[in-house]
Amino acid sequence: MTAARKRIKKKKLSRFGRKKKCRFCGNPSLEISFKNEKLVQRHVSDRGKIVARRVTGNCAKHQRMVAQAVKVARFLALAPYVREHYR
Ligand SMILES: [Zn+2]
Repeated sequence: MTAARKRIKKKKLSRFGRKKKCRFCGNPSLEISFKNEKLVQRHVSDRGKIVARRVTGNCAKHQRMVAQAVKVARFLALAPYVREHYR
């Protein structure tokens, strides 16, 4: 274990690392919409999958809204269902 890691551990780090906070709860002005291209892109992996809650740190409520926005964006061809060249 490196010295840097030890120092972090002292700061009451749980086994699972730092607890992530939901960005949308922290900042209510952030709009979850399929029209928000940046947001949709950020919640889609490079394979086209919706990024999991444990990765993004979103709460259940907001993750549902994000997932719905991504699905609408896919339907409107704003986001990919799957990237073909990854086959
Ligand atoms: Zn939230």
